[in-house]
Amino acid sequence: MRLGRIASPDGVAFVSIEGDGDNQLAREIAEHPFGNPTFTGRTWALPDVRLLAPILASKVICIGKNYAAHAAEMGGEAPKDPVIFLKPSTSIIGPNAPIILPRNSSQVDHEGELAVVIGRPCKDVPAAKAAEVILGYTVANDVTARDHQRHDGQWTRGKGYDTFCPLGPWIETAIDPTDLELVTELDGAVKQRSRTSLLLHDIPKLIEWVSAVMTLLPGDVVLTGTPEGVGPVVAGQTVSVTIEGIGTLSNPAADKKVQ
Ligand code: MG
Repeated sequence: MRLGRIASPDGVAFVSIEGDGDNQLAREIAEHPFGNPTFTGRTWALPDVRLLAPILASKVICIGKNYAAHAAEMGGEAPKDPVIFLKPSTSIIGPNAPIILPRNSSQVDHEGELAVVIGRPCKDVPAAKAAEVILGYTVANDVTARDHQRHDGQWTRGKGYDTFCPLGPWIETAIDPTDLELVTELDGAVKQRSRTSLLLHDIPKLIEWVSAVMTLLPGDVVLTGTPEGVGPVVAGQTVSVTIEGIGTLSNPAADKKVQ
């Protein structure tokens, strides 16, 4: 199932997205998308609605340097254990919403990533049971003010700006995430191309590691790390991240308006 969230003239709703191409339909889910969703009977043609970030997260947990080739391009080796950090829920935006570039940053980078969406409250989940707590998978861009990340020596500011966590276009619940192609394009030019089979710490291990630290709530999102090829985005450019079997997440970048 493809789970999404839309804005329509009738309001905001969780939906399942059905069909392909020009005939895609958004079918309204009653209440929330966890468990076995029930439907209201209302539908919209997908072109008639706007896709929002597919989920409301209490937190976004990110994994640093989880592809060896990205660790190398950042000038180091991959750490033995997963390194985690948080992005605030207020950094989340949906498909086609603009990434707003902070005026005091000279380098904002794209980082295309596979994202895991948590399906139920959980703590201390063994890797062997990780699949039981996962709702599905979506596409993310771990947008990073690289100069701020380097300047601060820790990552909260560089990773935490409003709009720095594009998510979408929807959550795919029925997919094997272990070997999917990930491609990031900047105005159509390929910048990152890799496969999730190259993750140093796989998804079950990440769920075990993160849930040993903090309770995960339905809708929480785990970004699994970016492959090599990260680089700057400037105003007017559009970043598109495509993951095989899920879809494409596109966001333009724009300068912050003078207030
Ligand atoms: Mg990242």
